[in-house]
Amino acid sequence: MSFAEKGLERNSGALPAMSIVLMILIGFAFAKLAAILGLIALTYGFYFLIVFPLLQGLLGGAGVVIGVRVGRCRNATAAGLIGLLCGLWAYAGMYWFHHLWQLYRDAQYNGENLSWVFSTAFQWEQFKGFMALVAQEGYTIKKAHVTGLGFWIIGGIELVMAGGVGFLLPWASAKEPYCEGCRKWYTNKAVGYGALEQMGTAQLLIHNRSWAELGALCSGPENKGPAIFLTLKRCPQCASAGYLTMSARSVDKRKKQSVAQIVKEFRLSPEEVNTLLAGIAAGGQGVEKR
Ligand SMILES: [Zn+2]
Repeated sequence: MSFAEKGLERNSGALPAMSIVLMILIGFAFAKLAAILGLIALTYGFYFLIVFPLLQGLLGGAGVVIGVRVGRCRNATAAGLIGLLCGLWAYAGMYWFHHLWQLYRDAQYNGENLSWVFSTAFQWEQFKGFMALVAQEGYTIKKAHVTGLGFWIIGGIELVMAGGVGFLLPWASAKEPYCEGCRKWYTNKAVGYGALEQMGTAQLLIHNRSWAELGALCSGPENKGPAIFLTLKRCPQCASAGYLTMSARSVDKRKKQSVAQIVKEFRLSPEEVNTLLAGIAAGGQGVEKR
């Protein structure tokens, strides 16, 4: 979850031309890959309803996210819309490639050449006809044979899901905080660790905005066990404002797994960031001396 989403800070909404090019190129390349993977899964019978479309939307969206980050797109609407198209294509492209493959096979039987294959593949009427056949044939899930209307309903739901995931990822990514001065995305770094038993005190210190004391409380060495840990998201280059996240990590004894949970998220001014970091550094020295 981005901090900007919570209305703590808005980024500029800038949309560099290069970011549009990158989002489209990388997004559609990933979406094509997702579509072809889907087709392979469909052909070999390991396609899972709902799960696969989500993965396809995820892959398409991830491609657009790369374009957002590298091209520095701070415009969530534009990133989301390109992501939506890539998500839809990642799913629907599966059938289009299926159609293309079918045409290729037909061409081999009928002695047609590749230009016939491509010109036919781009004809909407042809694709509609192909989809009608696919729907008629349907597929079988757990002994239930899904055809016709059922096929279209499930397909429609899957299409919306792939598009939705494709939209959300880049949309959230473009909303992430960005330093306009340094032209850099904020980075997230773990800065301090404290004893989990001190959570009450830590909450109180945050409530009072006592950053030096919070720093001292969370100046322990890095550890993977139960702990309070602080992460700070800020510009990697300048003394920018920062977003502080305090999380609690406990260990699930049954699963023997550590579980981290976000307790609080806070926006800190540059001065507050410095106070916190100084508090952590000073406390850390104290620990080492002992
Ligand atoms: Zn900066």
